[in-house]
Amino acid sequence: MVCPVCKILCRVGRTYFKAVDDDTPDKPTRIFIVHELVCRNRACPKYNTVVEVAEFEQKNPTATAVETEDTESEVTTAEE
Ligand SMILES: [Zn+2]
Repeated sequence: MVCPVCKILCRVGRTYFKAVDDDTPDKPTRIFIVHELVCRNRACPKYNTVVEVAEFEQKNPTATAVETEDTESEVTTAEE
């Protein structure tokens, strides 16, 4: 993504997680990774300010942990 003012590629200034609907039992909680993109061009009036916020949804953030548990339980199945 580029700065809308100077068209130079932005850098990621800050990254954080955001939860949506985590206080609503009717809807599943959605987790987003948020990247704040800041301009890195010193000559630009937007230098070091957030010019764009990019959000990426994390699909099933707990799925990997559940799979690991399943693999461990299979060990108890003995083959004779
Ligand atoms: Zn700029």
